[in-house]
Amino acid sequence: MKHLQQILSQACDSVRKEIAIGKTANYIPALARINPNKFGAAIVTVEGEIFRYGDATEPFSIQSISKVFALTLALNKLGDQLWLRVGREPSGSAFNSIVQLEKELGIPRNPLINAGALAVTDVLLEKSSSDNCVSEILSFIQTLANDDTVKIDAEVAQSELNTAHRNISLAEFMKSFNNIRCDVSEVVKAYCHHCAISMNCEQLARSFLFLANEGKDPVTGKQVVSPQRARRINSIMMLCGHYDASGDFAFRVGLPGKSGVGGGIVAVVPNVAAITVWSPCLNSNGNSHAGTAALEAITQATRWNIL
Ligand code: GLN
Repeated sequence: MKHLQQILSQACDSVRKEIAIGKTANYIPALARINPNKFGAAIVTVEGEIFRYGDATEPFSIQSISKVFALTLALNKLGDQLWLRVGREPSGSAFNSIVQLEKELGIPRNPLINAGALAVTDVLLEKSSSDNCVSEILSFIQTLANDDTVKIDAEVAQSELNTAHRNISLAEFMKSFNNIRCDVSEVVKAYCHHCAISMNCEQLARSFLFLANEGKDPVTGKQVVSPQRARRINSIMMLCGHYDASGDFAFRVGLPGKSGVGGGIVAVVPNVAAITVWSPCLNSNGNSHAGTAALEAITQATRWNIL
């Protein structure tokens, strides 16, 4: 195999012409303003090697990628009891869809759609305040990224809160089934703040490394979750990480991955590496268009795909 830096650069160069395809997230005003020409990527291997491309060190809004960190914390807190509050099946619906919730009695299909992440946030919020809950998630991420400069973009958080009608509706609806226990405004506030965490490609790949290494941070040696839990989180990302386009992502890339409407995608290569790509223009499912293409090119060149 060619050197990884060369593979990463060639894969990203080959999809650069696609960065203008799609649209930046326009339902969160602060995200609609992002420069659509940004394009970065990073690979961090379990040996701790780092390879970067383009805007790899420029922070962006991680958005739904934060759902993986919240899920990990909630599993560490509740264990298998969490599955009474949220399912683990692909939804086949948009990330912010409400359609299944009524028929399925307020239990969201999985923790990586908005309804599921709101239920997970509610679990983290119980016996805490919105500020403490967000601090807990932020400090967990700082530990995983081994970087305490990771922070929340207050402007993005406020911008999303101002337009959070859909997430408030989802939370209120689940509350009617007693699957939101805390105050809805506190849950949505905590949720919007953890979605508004800002990280760069390198920090994000670094912080997902434990999922590529059976739950253990390979650099610090800290066991973050058990090997079984890491496998399960990866399975959920594989089946649900791209909402109703999860099948397409598996078909094209063949790795567990999680996207966010900030244009980032993190993919996990078990026992090898974590990869982040960032390109703000999204396809109609809310996933980065060029980011997906870059990951497809990377797995084609490395044959790191597990499917
Ligand atoms: N904060 C965003 C929302 O709730 C996250 C969505 C996403 O990244 N898919 O709409």
